[in-house]
Amino acid sequence: MNIHEYQAKNLLQSYGVQIQQGIVANTPEEAVEAAQKLNQETGTEWYVIKAQIHAGGRGKGGGVKLAKSQEEVKEISNQILGMQLVTPQTGEEGKKVHKVLVAEDVYYPGENEPKEYYLSILLDRAKGCNVIMASTEGGMDIEEVAASTPEKIIKEWIDPGIGLQGFQARKVAFALGLEGKAFKQMVKFIQALYKAYMASDASQFEINPVLKTSDDKILAVDAKVNLDDSALYRHPDLTELRDLTEEEELEIEAGKAGLNYVKLDGNVGCMVNGAGLAMATMDIIKQSGGEPANFLDVGGSANAETVEAGFRIILKDPNVKAILINIFGGIVRCDRVANGVVEAYKNIGDIQVPIIVRLQGTNAEEGAKIIEESGLKVYSAILLKDAADRVEEVV
Ligand code: GDP
Ligand code: MN
Repeated sequence: MNIHEYQAKNLLQSYGVQIQQGIVANTPEEAVEAAQKLNQETGTEWYVIKAQIHAGGRGKGGGVKLAKSQEEVKEISNQILGMQLVTPQTGEEGKKVHKVLVAEDVYYPGENEPKEYYLSILLDRAKGCNVIMASTEGGMDIEEVAASTPEKIIKEWIDPGIGLQGFQARKVAFALGLEGKAFKQMVKFIQALYKAYMASDASQFEINPVLKTSDDKILAVDAKVNLDDSALYRHPDLTELRDLTEEEELEIEAGKAGLNYVKLDGNVGCMVNGAGLAMATMDIIKQSGGEPANFLDVGGSANAETVEAGFRIILKDPNVKAILINIFGGIVRCDRVANGVVEAYKNIGDIQVPIIVRLQGTNAEEGAKIIEESGLKVYSAILLKDAADRVEEVV
């Protein structure tokens, strides 16, 4: 589960991570009030208005802007609130902005130039432990740094049995070229960040930029936090931070029906049991000249209800021109799935798109017979090749 920047910063702060202070606002009036409050608390006279959406690259898309007065706070938040923000991570249609974070400007001039760093903690699946990644090349182009100069990314792996050791935090701060007060602050920053990461069962924290201010403070200016869905039951307070307006409507509906669904941009809907088979099915659709419209794993024990729920969700996607059902009858018998398909088809009624059903495994022949005798516009295939040929015919 993703959360917004303002929520992520509150979470970090509660574990002692130093952050750029800010207040969330839903309207331009609230934004001005927030600015007044920040002015009283921090003395700042400049503010940054930041669109709150679940995607990065907001700065590049015009979703992060500096306001040099409270009038500008009003103007800019008026502009950003309600806009359809397009960033390199949102896709062309962009995301609607419902909230802005009004934050203190922390790039004020002083003895030194402010400097941006990159810091993240994530699970390294290959090594089976968490890794801290850091770079002196923080700011908006970290993807470019990772691609063209990967040696500029420092990595420190954490032994899960003993946790982050003091020397490791110092090693990272040292590799970032820090000294004196900034060095000490960075060590504390990394330790507090790691504590927050572990305590919230996160799977990824990305702080880009971490800023060294002109007076050598270390602050989180941005915060992308990804929480492990499987551990959310341990965190009712974090579960409450979920913002459904940021999520795909069909994915929410599928979640309620206990289905594993991810919407994609193609034209062939697919319903499969088992994640591995679902991936393989998407490959077959591509090889047959189609593009998968979704990933859908109905689970090991598909029945008439799950098949119907899956059908309904796939059919709500207007791009779908055909549906491929690929079920392996291992735990579930194929005749049972076939009955489920026929029943769902009748219940939903008026299905215009061709449906190709490939049933393999226990009682595959019986399943095929049920579909053929149903009189419905359903193509039955037992062999994968037949299913693929059908897809080719109909797309
Ligand atoms: P992202 O583009 O979605 O990653 O959003 P960020 O929160 O990282 O903000 C983008 C950029 O806005 C940062 O890299 C900074 O350059 C700039 N920015 C953020 N906060 C401030 C601030 O307090 N003052 C100024 N002048 N710039 C800021
Ligand atoms: Mn950022």
